[in-house]
Amino acid sequence: MSSSLKHIGVLTSGGDAPGMNAAVRAVVRCAIYHGMEVTGIHEGYTGLLEGKLESLNSRSVANIINQGGTFLKSARCREFYEPEGRARAAAQLEESGIQALVVIGGDGSFTGAVLLAREHRVSVVGIPGTIDNDIYGTDFTIGFDTAINTVQDAVDKIRDTATSHNRLFFIEVMGRDAGYIALYTGIGAGSEEILIPEQSRGMDYLLQSLERSGRKGKTSSIVIVAEGDKSGGVYELAKTVEAKMDGYQSRVTVLGHIQRGGRPTCADRVLASRLGVAAVDALRDGSSGVMVGVRNNLISLTGLEKACKERTEINAELIRVADIVSI
Ligand code: ADP
Repeated sequence: MSSSLKHIGVLTSGGDAPGMNAAVRAVVRCAIYHGMEVTGIHEGYTGLLEGKLESLNSRSVANIINQGGTFLKSARCREFYEPEGRARAAAQLEESGIQALVVIGGDGSFTGAVLLAREHRVSVVGIPGTIDNDIYGTDFTIGFDTAINTVQDAVDKIRDTATSHNRLFFIEVMGRDAGYIALYTGIGAGSEEILIPEQSRGMDYLLQSLERSGRKGKTSSIVIVAEGDKSGGVYELAKTVEAKMDGYQSRVTVLGHIQRGGRPTCADRVLASRLGVAAVDALRDGSSGVMVGVRNNLISLTGLEKACKERTEINAELIRVADIVSI
């Protein structure tokens, strides 16, 4: 274990995700456990450039484990895309005596962290915090479990109306590039079909599936659509189905930002706590340029660059399960 590390910084960046607070709490407490100083950087890379720094102790992170969002706040920072911005960030870290940085965020934040590490030899470790679960090198990202439980609750409620009125509901969920939220909630909430960007099953496939269901006596249906699905969007889907199929009344619900907020689930709090501790352990071990994640329920380190560049493959077994249980 490296004993030269005395002072680390932690920030949250990019889209917020429930469980980020629990991750910050774990980073702070693990650092203090090892006798280190911790600085919280407010508003991500923007706050780093503007010197929005706060010394944190164990009590600074009390009563936040149950809160969604991030008390450090998050931001998107244009200057960080430029080498000059990253140079200013490195200078700020040096001036403040921060020897290593924990970045909690998604692949954009990690790309910035990789460049900062490469150009200025800053030690960085990433913690995957995004509701989309689309980061290579970890089975789950912080916030995903909370988001899918929020979506599942919403779909359960919509099902009551769908059933009472024999309606077809198209429900759009988050996921511009990744269909994990749609796939998990489609299975968990018992949807008829799941449309995800990775598959592009298309309109004809959907119409055939709904016709089959109609013949089997299904009078209401729920179709979960990831926002990145390429079939033309939920409103277009609903219009086309109504035009082409007799007897179906379609409705659309776009769940939007309710999916990002809320009290983190126990699974997210535990994951965030594990990854926060693992991040500090990794820095103390002398690692840099890595992301901490969980694979097969074990802590695992992946090169940050690889975590940014590689794509996660959608789980074929889950797709098969979804197809079978929706007949
Ligand atoms: P996320 O981390 O959730 O993917 P963003 O893609 O918005 O969110 O990235 C968050 C921040 O990370 C950006 O505002 C920017 O400051 C930094 N960042 C993202 N991509 C890059 C990049 N290619 N080069 C440098 N910094 C980047």
